[in-house]
Amino acid sequence: MIHIRNAEEIELLRKSAQLVSKTLGLIAEKVEPGVTTLELDRLAETFIRDHGAKPSFKGYNGFPYTLCMSRNEEVVHGFPSRVPLKEGDIISVDCGALWNGYHGDHAYTFVVGHVPLPVLKLLQVTKASLDLGIAQARAGNTIGDISHSIQQHAEAHGYGVVRELVGHGVGRELHEEPQVPNYGRPGKGPRLKNGMVLAIEPMINMGTKNVIQLDDGWTIITADKMPSAHFEHDVAIVNGRPDQLSTFDFVEEALRKKGAVVI
Ligand code: MG
Ligand code: MG
Repeated sequence: MIHIRNAEEIELLRKSAQLVSKTLGLIAEKVEPGVTTLELDRLAETFIRDHGAKPSFKGYNGFPYTLCMSRNEEVVHGFPSRVPLKEGDIISVDCGALWNGYHGDHAYTFVVGHVPLPVLKLLQVTKASLDLGIAQARAGNTIGDISHSIQQHAEAHGYGVVRELVGHGVGRELHEEPQVPNYGRPGKGPRLKNGMVLAIEPMINMGTKNVIQLDDGWTIITADKMPSAHFEHDVAIVNGRPDQLSTFDFVEEALRKKGAVVI
């Protein structure tokens, strides 16, 4: 079933989403060549617990970390590691926090130092496709309207839209109905109503849409080993319109402060 959240619940979801936003802001300060993703994972876990919340991902179906950290050809669900980030990497950081009984779940793909222009373009287009998807999160529209707008924008740039992994409802559970694919037809799928809360998360590949799961049972990589980007926001439908609960403001402020590229 698709949950309909009241105003009070949506405010709790906003608090959880904003805690994740702040956690990503902290990561933004620290992302640079030489840093390990395991260090960043520890920072994020401490930050979340210091706020009286719990990392949503740690222990979820046995996932061992606070952050999913997916580098370059890794699409999602990558493990933090002791391998230092290096100049030219991109790293998707996906974070969830459970606070007051509600989950926040969102993600940003960072650049490490300077990346080639085609990679920067992939990130910009993926982020723009998320914004286009969010704009369709209106009462009376359908999930397919969100899906289609994301797919159309990504494919117009020749990119591959991952099929196997999708966005989702978010609330008391990390993953709730409905599924929110990043591909689809306008007017298809469940109709959107006030009070629905969705995690919209395009996963867009520079090359083929096809992906492979690694032997660790988690990490998803592109079949052609070309880079992949991932951005995610939590969005409620309020008064018929999208109300974005999470924000990249903290990330962007941190990146500007250190003179890094803002996607
Ligand atoms: Mg998600
Ligand atoms: Mg996520």
